[in-house]
Amino acid sequence: MPASPPQGTPAPSLLAYRDEVAGCTKCALSQGRTQVVFGSGSPTADLMFVGEAPGFHEDKQGVPFVGAAGQLLSKLLAEIGIAREDVYINNVLMCRPPGNRDPQPDEIQACEPHLWRKIELIRPKLICTLGNFATKLLSGKPNGITQVHGRPQDVVLGGSPVTLYPIFHPAAALYTPRMLQVLQEDFARIPALLGRAVAPPPEPEPEPAPTRLEQPVQLGLF
Ligand code: URA
Repeated sequence: MPASPPQGTPAPSLLAYRDEVAGCTKCALSQGRTQVVFGSGSPTADLMFVGEAPGFHEDKQGVPFVGAAGQLLSKLLAEIGIAREDVYINNVLMCRPPGNRDPQPDEIQACEPHLWRKIELIRPKLICTLGNFATKLLSGKPNGITQVHGRPQDVVLGGSPVTLYPIFHPAAALYTPRMLQVLQEDFARIPALLGRAVAPPPEPEPEPAPTRLEQPVQLGLF
């Protein structure tokens, strides 16, 4: 029997995709990056995190969320009993924007097929979007994170049913104790969300039953 790959080794299709996009030049960020930051964690994760974009340390190491925000993410996961190796972590953008500026619309547009493909390959049950950029992209709605954080939504992404769960970006909680508390409260709901079945997409609205007036009238011809 062939030996199974060690846990955390990306499945062949995910590995192949990573190799395929390692030299991506779809946007101008490719010119300033050290390397593409594809994503890290379990290739069969039920839980995926989507952040914004690699920063200085991520660009150097080729791994998402290794800086201060990443350390907080690991701590928040540990607090709810989930190991970082058991989830999949990636970003809206795979290359570092210069000076850590916000992702630009053309960069998001160029990079989003990579994110959709990773979702298709990994098929997570729960996707936590961290902050505004990931939330707006994956929900397809303009509603900001302050409005929608902590509210799970059952959707279909990458062809599979998934619960989308927007939460604040850990960077927002680094220096704001109140924000950290909100993030901890939102994180606390993750285990229950992972345990519950994903509801199928809503059925189309049934045709309304005919009202009395609309019911066929039996004409008294005989
Ligand atoms: N590091 C990442 O990889 N993504 C972010 O959004 C922030 C820090």
